[in-house]
Amino acid sequence: MIVYADNAATTKISEKSLRAMMPLFTEDYGNPSSLHSIGQRAKEYLEEARGKVAKCINAEPSEIYFTSGGSEADNQALRSAANIGKKRGKNHIISSKFEHHAVLHTLNALEKEGFEITLLDVYSNGIVKPEDVEKAITDKTCLVTIMTANNEIGTIQPIKEIGEICRKKKVLFHTDAVQAAGHIPIDVQDMNVDMLSISGHKFHGPKGVGALYARKGVILSNIIEGGAQERRKRAGTENMPAIVGMSVALEDAVNEMYKTSKYVTGLRNKLTEGLKDIPKSRINGDLERRLPGTLNMCFEGIEGEGILLWLDQNGIEASSGSACTSGSLDPSHVLLSIGVPVEIAHGSLRLSISEYNTEEEIDHIIKTVPKVVSYLRKMSPVWEKIMKEEK
Ligand SMILES: *Cc1c(COP(=O)(O)O)cnc(C)c1O
Repeated sequence: MIVYADNAATTKISEKSLRAMMPLFTEDYGNPSSLHSIGQRAKEYLEEARGKVAKCINAEPSEIYFTSGGSEADNQALRSAANIGKKRGKNHIISSKFEHHAVLHTLNALEKEGFEITLLDVYSNGIVKPEDVEKAITDKTCLVTIMTANNEIGTIQPIKEIGEICRKKKVLFHTDAVQAAGHIPIDVQDMNVDMLSISGHKFHGPKGVGALYARKGVILSNIIEGGAQERRKRAGTENMPAIVGMSVALEDAVNEMYKTSKYVTGLRNKLTEGLKDIPKSRINGDLERRLPGTLNMCFEGIEGEGILLWLDQNGIEASSGSACTSGSLDPSHVLLSIGVPVEIAHGSLRLSISEYNTEEEIDHIIKTVPKVVSYLRKMSPVWEKIMKEEK
């Protein structure tokens, strides 16, 4: 049995999305900028896709800009707000310590360019406090960027409340909703956001495509210069199959959300119940305010990499946290930000479930994880030390 439990890293493309993409490769392969019929047909597909994405997040089609993915959307949102700020003599940006690296590394770059960055604490429940955002805002603040849901621990942030504060203080507010879109309701009006990023491959759409929502009146800066595509804000011939595939996947995810969320939450709860009593383990992040499919745990005395390799041997594909930091031996910045001690953060495991998983697969994980954990602990000098200190 092969169990894919790494849906926060990427998802399997849905049949619907894949089928919707096919004509764009075969018959309707036109360039939307061409004036002939096949080009104009592509243009129709493009605008239909834009309309679908807009509808799914309660935006206007003219507020949707297609990008190469969540990372590009994040980069463009932050760069745009920074440029708007600079023109008004504002150079202060507020974010949190547990953002995705697409945000954190863009902030590092902006810091080198003279921006002042405040990274807020997240607390042990993995949730940012709106009052901390309010306290951090100064008359120099040009942007607040806080993710809708965290990619490692799944906790959902009080975006609406933070948005209210930003609106009151007249500060631009961006949210990275890459983990959230297609999984929990997204409504840019209700959430009081000015910019929002999504990515196709996190909700059973294709990879290499995303979108940036930018409220009417927010002037975007280009990351990619060239032709006049995307109302001059993102050059390059549109990735038509991917754009169409993403729009269909998002529409489907939103239509089925109630059912999917109930099913996936059920599986996740079963998984949590099945694993929570492993000795010297902990569940990271708030248990209620979190995405349906995500469970992040730490096991003392062992390394996340070891757990992953042994789970893989047993047909379970999971992650130690973020796919972006795997390969490095540093513990997750997310777990450190919520106060997990370094030595414990090393033993992390993220299981992320989707509607493609079954009860049997969850049973297999519940049976396998405790075995792997105790096997690795038997060989671990760190575990031996922990046990000695117990006595
Ligand atoms: C996956 C992810 C991204 C990056 O999106 P890509 O489309 O892979 O570039 C950004 N932010 C979060 C929270 C993510 O989970």
